Amino acid sequence: MEKRKNIYLDHAATTPLSKEVAEIMQSYYTNVFGNANSQHSYGRDATIAVINAREQVAKSIGAKASEIYFTGGGTEADNWAIKGAALEMKSRGRGNHIITSKIEHPAVYNSCQQLEKYGFEVTYLDVDKDGFVSKENLEKAIRKDTILVSIMFANNEIGTIEPIRELAEVAHAHNILFHTDAVQAAGSIAIDVKDLGVDMLSLSGHKFYGPKGIGALYIRGGVKIEKLLTGGEQERAQRGGTTNVPAAVGLGEAIAAATANMEENAKVVSALRDRFVKGVKEKIEYIRYNGTEDNSKRLPNNASFSFQYIEGESILYSLDLAGISASSGSACSSGSLDPSRTLLSIGVPVGVAHGTIRFTFGTDNTNDDVDYTLEKLVEIVARLRNMSPLFKISKEDTKNV
Ligand code: PLP
Repeated sequence: MEKRKNIYLDHAATTPLSKEVAEIMQSYYTNVFGNANSQHSYGRDATIAVINAREQVAKSIGAKASEIYFTGGGTEADNWAIKGAALEMKSRGRGNHIITSKIEHPAVYNSCQQLEKYGFEVTYLDVDKDGFVSKENLEKAIRKDTILVSIMFANNEIGTIEPIRELAEVAHAHNILFHTDAVQAAGSIAIDVKDLGVDMLSLSGHKFYGPKGIGALYIRGGVKIEKLLTGGEQERAQRGGTTNVPAAVGLGEAIAAATANMEENAKVVSALRDRFVKGVKEKIEYIRYNGTEDNSKRLPNNASFSFQYIEGESILYSLDLAGISASSGSACSSGSLDPSRTLLSIGVPVGVAHGTIRFTFGTDNTNDDVDYTLEKLVEIVARLRNMSPLFKISKEDTKNV
């Protein structure tokens, strides 16, 4: 019997922890296990490791170490940036209006929705057919009482990279704080916070071969926001809770490696993605490639396709049976049957959105993985369409959408 394949094409959901990083982290669980706040040699050794990790993160995004705060992941970093800025600005009487986009990750979107319950007003900007937020739309949405703009760096479902520098410029022209959720971008494409001019930026370890449950929030020096986690004096008294030293070390090592190998990694994953995209377009009819065709404005590892007339979940399960792991839209919202906000926002019809699969490649994938996936995908789509009454009825009079 043929050995079952194990092809992982869901790197936007999470990446495997790098073996080198895991090895370095190990000793911080068992040997250098001190509390980084303790006043003895165990504590000092842990502190030194955290200082080093903070410097690694800072260096990778062009920040100062004093501007980096460790968090329990990307979700916490986003929550802190948005709620912290909102509470701080409100307490200063600066206003209560926030601007974000319709395609944000739930960590940002739902934070904004929650703030609406407490009297904040939020404008959710439209995006164009490729998922871009325009600076003209942002400009139009700004009000006298706008206190914060939060636009994601790169979208987790369709890979669109937003014009962050331009958008931050618009916000700053009105003296408004600008936050970006760079969880999908960090470690994958170059980021320089000074060049971009952002005030806050979130990132997360497990998206670039680092550990889960650790992230960081960059807060530009001089910007003050309210605390999210009140407690002890950790993170320069801005985020209570005993520092997760092994995870911080892992985050630092992972982002340092991702930054050092960024160009090479991008070349590898974009070549795999391009081979896959070309194959799908050549071999499968009635599809829609979601997101921009301009690869310079798209994450190098992302391919999102909608397959008309069939259910994404059925494709996903069939791929899984064939040993291929992908995602039906965003992993974070899988389990929900609601069509993706991002896909609807770029104009994908509801029925078509339901047939969407996101493939995200990693440095561990090969051309053989791509070719095998293409072979199986062609079979699966044909089989499911054969069983789809909708396909039989509509195929005569429908072109690619
Ligand atoms: N923001 C974006 C764009 C994401 O893709 C994710 C995770 O998928 C998050 C935030 C949440 O990050 P974390 O899983 O570290 O909480």
